[in-house]
Amino acid sequence: MWIDTHCHLDAPEFGADHALAQHLRERAAGLGVGLCVIPAVEQANLDTVRQLAHRLGDAYALGIHPLFVPQAQEGDLQALDAALTEHRNDPRLVAVGEVGLDFFVPALCESAMRERQTWFYREQLKLARAHGLPVILHVRRSADALLKHLREVPTGGGIAHAFSGSEQQAQAFLGLGFKLGFGGAVTFEPAQRLRRLASTLPLSALVLETDAPDIPPHWLYATAAERLNGRAQGINSPAELPRIAAVVAGLRGMSVQALAQATTANALQALPRLAGLLPPPQGAA
Ligand SMILES: [Zn+2]
Repeated sequence: MWIDTHCHLDAPEFGADHALAQHLRERAAGLGVGLCVIPAVEQANLDTVRQLAHRLGDAYALGIHPLFVPQAQEGDLQALDAALTEHRNDPRLVAVGEVGLDFFVPALCESAMRERQTWFYREQLKLARAHGLPVILHVRRSADALLKHLREVPTGGGIAHAFSGSEQQAQAFLGLGFKLGFGGAVTFEPAQRLRRLASTLPLSALVLETDAPDIPPHWLYATAAERLNGRAQGINSPAELPRIAAVVAGLRGMSVQALAQATTANALQALPRLAGLLPPPQGAA
């Protein structure tokens, strides 16, 4: 069984009524994806991800994504706190996320916006602590800053999603109780550093994700030239996870079965509440 630890199934790409999300989720289930984690990105979709996770039999996280900080209000943090309190006994609520820092998007890099992102990030780390939940982190050119604040506001660990930092940064996240999320980016041969990390990090470090509909694997990706010639970009969904996993298993020289077993156990360690959502093992009475 596979767990897609990060997919935005509520994204507009999957249809306003989530019909496409449901269809692709069923296809993923047929390929062995037993659970998906759907993170929120802003106050406006806190309810949406919760309802969708219930409809699909999946898990969700609640948080404000750094790319949504420019339009977020301080009151959104109170709304987040209230939602975390209201749904604290919901077994499908597994983490605070997606939170973090993005120092790649130019508009987010000017100093006032860096400070604002940092403030939202730290406040949400405090909420994760207060509610006893792990965190799902967005890391883009921001690993060292994220780590610094994690040391100052320690949480119960979680997942550094779409990880693409250095070996040293990877070890620092692992030391703080985090697992590292690998997805479509690892399927691109030029991504040498990332592929080396995916193959050399201890097996206990890895969780798998699609980040759907973002970060499509290479077989869905159409270059700008190909798009001009009419080749559409394929839509990334949790149904791609087993094939992404096969690439990771190939890089590590291990069987997909062993990778499935290990990454599922790792996901449960990072997001302990997932354990209560697992389908009963086959053959169990
Ligand atoms: Zn995400």
